[in-house]
Amino acid sequence: MKTIPPGATIGILGGGQLGRMTVLAAARLGYKCHIFCPDKNEPAIAVAAAHTEGTFTDRAALEKFAKQVDVVTLEWENIPIEALEILAPHMAVYPSVNVLRISQDRAQEKEFAKSIGVGTADFVIVNSAAELDKAMKNFPLPAVLKSTRMGYDGKGQIRIMPDTNAEAAWKAMGSNAGILESFIDFACEISVIVACRADGATMAYPAVENIHRNHILAETHAPAGIDPAIAGEAEHIARKMAEKLNVVGLLTVEMFVLRQPDKNGHRVLMNEIAPRPHNSGHWTIDACACSQFEQLVRAVCGLPLASVLPHSRAVMHNLIGDDVRRWPQLLEDPQACLHLYGKADIRPGRKMGHVTYLKGTW
Ligand code: AMP
Repeated sequence: MKTIPPGATIGILGGGQLGRMTVLAAARLGYKCHIFCPDKNEPAIAVAAAHTEGTFTDRAALEKFAKQVDVVTLEWENIPIEALEILAPHMAVYPSVNVLRISQDRAQEKEFAKSIGVGTADFVIVNSAAELDKAMKNFPLPAVLKSTRMGYDGKGQIRIMPDTNAEAAWKAMGSNAGILESFIDFACEISVIVACRADGATMAYPAVENIHRNHILAETHAPAGIDPAIAGEAEHIARKMAEKLNVVGLLTVEMFVLRQPDKNGHRVLMNEIAPRPHNSGHWTIDACACSQFEQLVRAVCGLPLASVLPHSRAVMHNLIGDDVRRWPQLLEDPQACLHLYGKADIRPGRKMGHVTYLKGTW
């Protein structure tokens, strides 16, 4: 395993807040970061050493970027595969093309999970309104129709009831490939973030509980208020997914906790994976000696992974859209650890910052 020492430059594909917080963590360890993204107003650029502007399929721009960085990672999983294929001959790129391909496609993620014995909601692949109509006749409803690609924050998701018109639902989903997935009456939603180095060393943060509002993450509670055996099952699933995928960097695994074990005895089902830092890990900045962002830097640079043991319990609240206007009051509160992403335009549904409250010893 090659070590990329402090002083080197980490290339990051994508310029959002996840990139911004990675840059800040990298700086603490003496690294420089170079952001590659199409828009020069992205929040990571303001704190990075360099920026290359280009689309993710611009070969000339990517090759120029490749000459200026020592390793490449990403902060958004919908980067075209082509970008990684252009960069990979020049230096190590984490995550790999294979990991990215699987995590860009809900059907592939779920097939992969099933192939290694990890439980998921039952699902069928549907590729047209007619296929959806047919599937609805044999599939227990209610269910959820999800686009296989580019779905995040509930985008491309439609609830399917027995009286739903397949044609209208297909149009509303807005994609030409989808999955029909059984609706899960879950007890809660949790996630586990695993850091993995190229030599196979891994560290998993404890399971946290995620509360969504309007399909967007609103709060993360660390630790999740679940039975330790369930937390253990969740950690086992996350590590298994990361190890079997050969992830280098971070893998976030979002899961549903069931009220009762399913027919296969699973109490935890994998819902979605992301091979990057995750909103549900922001609490680690303030409540752990080493944040998810620093852990990513350590993993991709071949440094020792640090402890994932938190010193404090924590609750993280996202500041979405107009929530960010509360910054003066939040600053008045000495208990509030405030993080603002420096985004100029406030828009409904846009993640503008977050605030973490420490809740006593872990
Ligand atoms: P996803 O994009 O798959 O993470 O879905 C966004 C959110 O929709 C999840 O965090 C859940 O709150 C909800 N959701 C997704 N799939 C299901 C399902 N099969 N059953 C119930 N709720 C779901």
